[in-house]
Amino acid sequence: MSAEYYPHLINLAYVVAGILFILGLKGLTHPRTAVGGNLLGALAMLLAIVATLLKTKIIEDYTWILIGTGIGTVIGVLFATRIAMTAMPQLVALFNGFGGGASVLVAGAELVKNIRALTLDSNGAEAAATATPNVVADVAIVASGLIGAVTFWGSLVAMGKLQELKMFKKNISLPGQQVFNALLALAALALGVWLVSDPTNMTAYWGLVAVASVLGLTLVLPIGGADMPVVIALLNSYSGLAAASTGFVIDNNVLIIAGSLVGASGLILTQIMCKAMNRSLTNVLFGVLEPGGAAADADEVYAGRVKSTSADEVAMLYESAQRAVIVPGYGLAVAQAQHAVRDLMDVLESRGVEVEFAIHPVAGRMPGHMNVLLAEAEVPYEKLREMDEINSTFPQTDVTLVIGANDVVNPVARTDPSSPIAGMPILDVDKSRTVVVVKRSLSPGFAGIPNPLFAADNCLMYFGDGKQAMLDLVGALKEL
Ligand code: NDP
Repeated sequence: MSAEYYPHLINLAYVVAGILFILGLKGLTHPRTAVGGNLLGALAMLLAIVATLLKTKIIEDYTWILIGTGIGTVIGVLFATRIAMTAMPQLVALFNGFGGGASVLVAGAELVKNIRALTLDSNGAEAAATATPNVVADVAIVASGLIGAVTFWGSLVAMGKLQELKMFKKNISLPGQQVFNALLALAALALGVWLVSDPTNMTAYWGLVAVASVLGLTLVLPIGGADMPVVIALLNSYSGLAAASTGFVIDNNVLIIAGSLVGASGLILTQIMCKAMNRSLTNVLFGVLEPGGAAADADEVYAGRVKSTSADEVAMLYESAQRAVIVPGYGLAVAQAQHAVRDLMDVLESRGVEVEFAIHPVAGRMPGHMNVLLAEAEVPYEKLREMDEINSTFPQTDVTLVIGANDVVNPVARTDPSSPIAGMPILDVDKSRTVVVVKRSLSPGFAGIPNPLFAADNCLMYFGDGKQAMLDLVGALKEL
């Protein structure tokens, strides 16, 4: 092939990869096309990697690249096959962090290369260097270091919180937290300006990375409870921005395209999550999420008002029902009750009951968590209704069965402005004729607050593990 056409071919491969990334994202917007979308994204990444390896003809020895690829493949396969569905959000947080960390290291390595070019001649002797500083690349190095370090440390804290590690259980905040964060951001920017004005200054770069690392920690450490999904989506967006900046650093078009796509889609997801949790994007961007107010005392909420029920009683309720709604939550994932819930749907439908599933946007521990679980059990997509669609139908619903959901059906979000989940849109299950809640105890959900729904007049508590409770209920229905 003529050397003249070679760069064009590489760029063409990048354009094809970019188109495949966009088609992949499009596929991910619907459960039916999500698997195909994921495969397209993987194909695009393969194409981008192969084209990049061929582009940089300066690589004389592929040994280290092959070793890195081998280790990465083994770790990736182990994660993908071993990780529990309930731990997926932590894994996503960790991957975001790795993306940020990689940006810091690549930008640092490029800076070392640039410094050599600026200070040494071709024989490695000092002075008489021919290279001139490249301001765009230097600004991109600053952006990669800054966003990458914030993403790396912020994501590690988010992962620790989601994994419920002891050291992250408390939402640590300093007095004057926002001022402190603003000062850190200013210090990082000042170091960035220093680096751009003196591109041979390695101290400025590592100083910037150190300050940004502290900022990553102090931004996420105070945030807890119901705000975590917004943080994860935002960090996802940051990791894309860090990758796009690194694309400018190493002059790689496909990295700029892919990074921008991650950055933009992460921001859109952040906005959707903000809406679902009633947070403003500005608050999130400046890291002023509410750590949460004081929660009511559980004894006060529940004392003497909770009614428990059994499989036989619930089966009898369904006997006279025409319309039933099932609300899945995080506990469905823990109990792995998705197949048993599908059996319940089949039995009810065979008895002429209309059944629908109500899906809250932040039910479970990651966006789309419930959709994935129910798709695994082959619950038809048309049975799944989003919150806005289904909320108006609860007053006409005879039996709403809440399985392993808690925060997303907690009416205090509507009634108590001082609650940590105040203003979060919820599924209005309390407006149904009868609500049955399946869970193991009266323990709180992710936000750590009691739920007055459990003490409501029209609510029955069906205590037990989600899967076993469903198996018993299906058994009882079959015996009717
Ligand atoms: P919650 O975390 O509020 O509640 C889950 C409930 O499931 C618990 O009360 C628990 O009660 C019950 N449970 C646990 N294991 C079982 C089991 N084996 N069988 C039956 N029940 C079980 O879940 P929701 O889905 O209602 O709400 C999600 C929460 O997570 C929200 O606060 C959201 O903000 C947050 N979040 C969401 C993310 C997302 O992107 N979707 C990401 C991070 C956080 P018990 O122990 O008594 O059984």
